[in-house]
Amino acid sequence: MNTYKNVRKISHETRHNMVGDGFRVYQYIPGSLNLTDDASPFLMLDYNAPFRFPPSANRKGVGEHPHKGFETVTIAFDGYIEHRDSSGGGGVIGPGDVQWMTAGNGILHDEFQTDEMSRNGGLQHMIQLWVNLPAKDKSTPAAYQNLTDAMISRYKLDELGSVVRVIAGSFAGVKGPAKTFTPVNMYDMILNAGASTGFDIPLSHNSMLLVTKGKIRINEKTDASFRDFVLFDHNAENIHIEATEDARVFFISGEPIHEPVARYGPFVMNTREELIQAFEDFHSGKFGSIAAS
Ligand code: MN
Repeated sequence: MNTYKNVRKISHETRHNMVGDGFRVYQYIPGSLNLTDDASPFLMLDYNAPFRFPPSANRKGVGEHPHKGFETVTIAFDGYIEHRDSSGGGGVIGPGDVQWMTAGNGILHDEFQTDEMSRNGGLQHMIQLWVNLPAKDKSTPAAYQNLTDAMISRYKLDELGSVVRVIAGSFAGVKGPAKTFTPVNMYDMILNAGASTGFDIPLSHNSMLLVTKGKIRINEKTDASFRDFVLFDHNAENIHIEATEDARVFFISGEPIHEPVARYGPFVMNTREELIQAFEDFHSGKFGSIAAS
């Protein structure tokens, strides 16, 4: 019998909230997780479970707002989001694409459904994840990685389409394209009923998954289904996942950043003094501006 990373807890959010008017999300991080221990380096996970937005005369989304001290990662499964930021980054992400934005020393951006999607309505299925930066990198210049579906690495599990899309870190030796500041693994696992895989994650990593479709069995004994979020322990390296029906799993792990977290709204620093400074920098215009399109 294999020794697996124990499942420490499974949570299932039942209440959604709106982010702006364009993201209908269930929030799993922080949820009941401790940001400095259980979840680090992840600060927030908002899950826009599949939702069909009705047609709308105005563009839905979130208008101009700042971030500082971490990275925002948007993973699109369905729907189209247009992004513009003060580092000059921008573009549209659609099904299979990932946008990895480093707020670093300060950025302004907006995030809206495309005109076409707002006008016609459409299915949206996305995750937005916030990844912390260590103190030494919080002042790194703002940057933007547009990781298109074609750039994302694939580890094929069978001939029927079961595949692990490796966005960051590595899976069984296949490396993902995202540049990260601390060690992070991020997989989008598409599993046909009956497909299974086992993989190793370092003991030191915090590791967790969200079921984004169907039903799975973890470590040959624990069942989880759509919208369940699973946090693993540190007792072993191996995790085994089997799809008990057609399923999709968003898996993340990372080396925890052992530093204090001071968060207020869109700023995440190490101390209260740094938060106050971040607000002053934002209000004095040091985050630049978004170029007119
Ligand atoms: Mn944002």
